[in-house]
Amino acid sequence: MNSVIVTGAAGFLGSHLCEYYLNAGYKVFGLDNFSTGLKSNITHLNSLKKDFEFHEFDACQDWTFLKNKVQNLKYIFHFASPASPPLYQRLAIETLWVNSIGLEQALKFADLYKARTIFASTSEVYGDPSISPQPESYWGNVNSFGERSCYDEAKRFGEALIFSHNKRHNTQHGLIRFFNSYGPRMNPDDGRVVINFIKQALAKDSLTIYGDGTQTRSFCFVDDTIAGIAKYAESYISVPINVGNDKEFTIKELAEIVQKITKTSSLIKFEPLPSDDPKRRRPDLTKAKTLLAPWEPKIPLEIGVRKMVDWLSNY
Ligand code: UDP
Repeated sequence: MNSVIVTGAAGFLGSHLCEYYLNAGYKVFGLDNFSTGLKSNITHLNSLKKDFEFHEFDACQDWTFLKNKVQNLKYIFHFASPASPPLYQRLAIETLWVNSIGLEQALKFADLYKARTIFASTSEVYGDPSISPQPESYWGNVNSFGERSCYDEAKRFGEALIFSHNKRHNTQHGLIRFFNSYGPRMNPDDGRVVINFIKQALAKDSLTIYGDGTQTRSFCFVDDTIAGIAKYAESYISVPINVGNDKEFTIKELAEIVQKITKTSSLIKFEPLPSDDPKRRRPDLTKAKTLLAPWEPKIPLEIGVRKMVDWLSNY
């Protein structure tokens, strides 16, 4: 039986990845230190599948204990990292470490098995982009010394580490740049916009728009994201690829969609825009649609938000 390791297994994308590979017949080793992940995201995996083995573990620590346990390793998904601006700003140093030291550990461990590491990179490597949509060839407009730099620069460092590691060791590790993925199992307290608006609407609180709400994002439902990850992993591509949905919405439009779906007339409250908040974000998916064919995002925002509302209503 082939196996995979998922770091950040109790996180949003990590828990969906574990479920995907368990259903695909793999033994799955989940690692998480619960700094932002939730135990509730993995309890169903423990009870449903005997092939899930979880270890509470910080990916920056020594991975030696896993050597006797893991066999036939195919992929390591290094997804451990805070991912929402409030959380990575609170855990800034840990964010820098897990995307550098933690990634180095994952790469070395994968090499022992000739396995492939897939690193969760991000659209934040483009910073506040001066072009739209953003193709992978765009080098970005990033502040290296500010509120978002712990995350943006850590992910950029991770990409550079993979490039250099592959070159020196002739390996095929890879990375994906995710654009605002959303769906069930996001931490309801993590502060990202989709989960925040839905939580606020269901509690009949005002929706908090930061700035004037004209900034844009492109939201990708988790099922589309996971399908893109699996396709990337099996493709043995090492170059960066954008994975997201290329339909762009203003934050104000998102607020209106949430109001409509939750059938609430929650008021909108405008709050100050955080520093270095990107004004536009939309992936150029040309490369993904070619190299990951037939993958493309399928789930429209209204359908995804509806699924998330159903999930959070029963949380
Ligand atoms: N945002 C907002 N209200 C919220 C949370 C976020 O208006 O309650 C805005 C935020 O300022 C940003 C966008 O929504 O412009 C997306 O924020 P998020 O934290 O989801 O992720 P980002 O794409 O900024 O990393």
